[in-house]
Amino acid sequence: MTQTMASSSTQEVAAELLRRPAFVMVSHVKPDGDTLGAGLALGIALKRLGKRVHYFQQDPVPRNLRFLPDTEFVTRDIPGDLPPDTLYVFCDMSDFSRAGEFLPKVERENMLDIDHHLGNSHFGKFNFVLDTECSTGTVVMHLFRELKIEIDRDLATCILTTIMTDTGGFMHSNTTPAVLELSAELMRIGADKEQITEEIFANRRVAATRLLGSVIDAMVFGHEGRYCYSYVDDPMLARTDADGEDTEDVVNTLRGQEGVEVAALFKAIEGEIRVSLRSNGRVNVQAAAATLGGGGHFRASGLTFHGTLADAFVAVDAALTAQGL
Ligand code: AMP
Ligand code: MN
Ligand code: MN
Repeated sequence: MTQTMASSSTQEVAAELLRRPAFVMVSHVKPDGDTLGAGLALGIALKRLGKRVHYFQQDPVPRNLRFLPDTEFVTRDIPGDLPPDTLYVFCDMSDFSRAGEFLPKVERENMLDIDHHLGNSHFGKFNFVLDTECSTGTVVMHLFRELKIEIDRDLATCILTTIMTDTGGFMHSNTTPAVLELSAELMRIGADKEQITEEIFANRRVAATRLLGSVIDAMVFGHEGRYCYSYVDDPMLARTDADGEDTEDVVNTLRGQEGVEVAALFKAIEGEIRVSLRSNGRVNVQAAAATLGGGGHFRASGLTFHGTLADAFVAVDAALTAQGL
């Protein structure tokens, strides 16, 4: 068992960023606008400070995030000639295993963990974890203020994307007055809210809508209507001409049904079962996911299940029941 490191102060992390010559920004598997937007924002700012920056992401950049600046440089390769004191910056993940198995081994000494998840494992030498922030992008803003980085249009676009992703377009309960004030400021600087809305929320592929139809057909209700779950599998994707990226938003539709307090979407895709959980705020789905090796936030969490889909239904129901569903 490795020892949990303490939290790092804003000043300490800022000083470390200035001290290091080179960086690899690391985002999590099945990337979203927060992990990628936060890493791109910090990477772009570091380049402006004269640093060498690479972006590592195991999965390709999702179609709906390709509008973000610098995404053309995101790869699953790590250059062979990086200096030994290169700092690997993990954005938006409660553990480094969320970066995927393609990331080569990194010494803890060279890990910076920037995050806002509950129960972050403090896996880095430096851990800048603010779990009251709405997104990892707004955690990065603390570093920008400390380093007196001038926020331009590109940085504003990345940060507003992290906010809109993790607040569900300003709908979730993490949308505080401060979040709205910061968002207004980012829009004034030139972040295009219209474009972000269009790319991330409005511009739905027809295949995704067909897939949603199949998921809705397969909905099951339990716990006197307080629980709704459904699934996606490979045949369903093939039938609707959809792919894994088209499943991202689907669980929110299940959660949005009248009377539903908790929703689960089971994604049995390419030999893996990933489960997305959402809560209306009464049941802690982060705690439920954690008992099955996953994590996340009070109202939004996820896990990977090892076993059959039928076993996954039973295990997740039991984990949610234990949390008071
Ligand atoms: P998702 O349902 O994939 O949108 O994920 C919802 C939240 O749960 C996000 O904050 C994720 O970071 C977190 N999460 C999803 N899958 C996992 C996992 N396997 N382990 C830990 N956290 C996860
Ligand atoms: Mn994320
Ligand atoms: Mn996030």
